[in-house]
Amino acid sequence: MRKHNFGAGPGVLPEEAIRKTQEALYDFNGIGMGAMEISHRSKEFAAVMDRTRSLTRELLKVPDTHEILLLQGGASGQFAMIPMNFLNGKAAYVEAGAWSVKAIKEAKTAGEVVVVASSADKNFNYQPKGYDIPADCDYLHITSNETIHGTQLKAWPDSPIPLVCDMSSDIFSRPVDTGAFDLIYAGAQKNLGPSGVTVVIIKKEFAQGIKKKLPKYFNYNTHIEGESLYNTPPTLPILVCMFTLEWLKGIGGVEAIEKINSEKASLFYGQVDANPFFTGTANKEDRSPMNAPFLLADPKRDAEFLQTARGKGIEGIKGHRSVGGFRASMYNALPVESVKALVTFMEEFSKVHA
Ligand SMILES: *Cc1c(COP(=O)(O)O)cnc(C)c1O
Repeated sequence: MRKHNFGAGPGVLPEEAIRKTQEALYDFNGIGMGAMEISHRSKEFAAVMDRTRSLTRELLKVPDTHEILLLQGGASGQFAMIPMNFLNGKAAYVEAGAWSVKAIKEAKTAGEVVVVASSADKNFNYQPKGYDIPADCDYLHITSNETIHGTQLKAWPDSPIPLVCDMSSDIFSRPVDTGAFDLIYAGAQKNLGPSGVTVVIIKKEFAQGIKKKLPKYFNYNTHIEGESLYNTPPTLPILVCMFTLEWLKGIGGVEAIEKINSEKASLFYGQVDANPFFTGTANKEDRSPMNAPFLLADPKRDAEFLQTARGKGIEGIKGHRSVGGFRASMYNALPVESVKALVTFMEEFSKVHA
């Protein structure tokens, strides 16, 4: 029996994708070799690469002006690579949580950073809005979903400079106007697949503007020209992403999953708001449907809450140390039934301990 997996990442994947992977590991498409045992330049793997990219293009409606790259190094690799490539004078960053803080730190190693807005004053429990964007910066960096603090951007800033976004924890969870961004990136292990592959959606024109002399591997143009095959890509993680995207397409794509995600979020936050035993830590209007941090009114019950949840098959809800309490991550592949199980458990637990 599989558990109700509320882990923040690497997170739950669709059962269908896992089963297909199991088969492909031993004998991929009947070729008598496993998917991780074949050349990244074989026609079998070329088909996987093409399909993963074309599903990404189709599901996220990525326009032809943009390239889709499948790289390594995680979102953290992008924290470094973006300023390496694009920070010439200074870059603008919104500081909305622990991940933006890391992105800012990395950018500072490459040049000057202007922090245009921050929610550090309230331990990042909200998404800054209505700030000015300096036109003389090379780009504006934002984080669509702050995984640790549980806040999500509901509207994109109207940026006069190239817009760069870390979408690691909510990519493919809702429709996005991908054409409005110059660069979108995401580590796969939250909503898309296993760790080891990083999706980068980059506007060709933006990449053409790279002026800096860089080691070849760290220049986006190397991977654009090499079609993400400059060196050996993470073949197996890419295959799992492909299976996950096939599942997503099968259930109706990002429009359909957005509805399911908002149903899960309503169920969960409905309980948090109705029950004085629990408090959500994020500002209501910025709440993320993906990651929901919450506290017990009586923190002395924390250990017991966690332990009892385990007994009900509920895993991965321990909160991040910087926020404390608990966090329910409800990524695409988490079934509605799992959220129902959590909410039922929360209600029961609160009644027993009221
Ligand atoms: C998980 C996460 C990261 C870090 O991803 P890695 O692939 O481990 O480097 C960065 N940004 C956000 C928003 C995340 O959720």
